[in-house]
Amino acid sequence: MALIEDIIDLLESEGGLTAREICAILRIEPEREKEVYAAITKAAKVLKRKGKRLVMQPPKCKKCGFEFEKVKATKCPRCKSQWIEEARFFIG
Ligand SMILES: [Zn+2]
Repeated sequence: MALIEDIIDLLESEGGLTAREICAILRIEPEREKEVYAAITKAAKVLKRKGKRLVMQPPKCKKCGFEFEKVKATKCPRCKSQWIEEARFFIG
């Protein structure tokens, strides 16, 4: 639960962070990035109850501009590039 609150505080003070950046700021090992994504999903529910909204700027292929619908992407289905801009999260 503490991780969820930390993420909310962080996104409220500086929006537009990727899961990787959140890991770095909160000193979470990159291997635990999955937990951060899970906590972000839970944070979205907590925020909704407070009348706020967690907004995701979806991952995007830096080569062809393809926008993903999922949160975590590693390879572009259109051009097969692995040069992916990670999803960024904001509180709206
Ligand atoms: Zn692409």
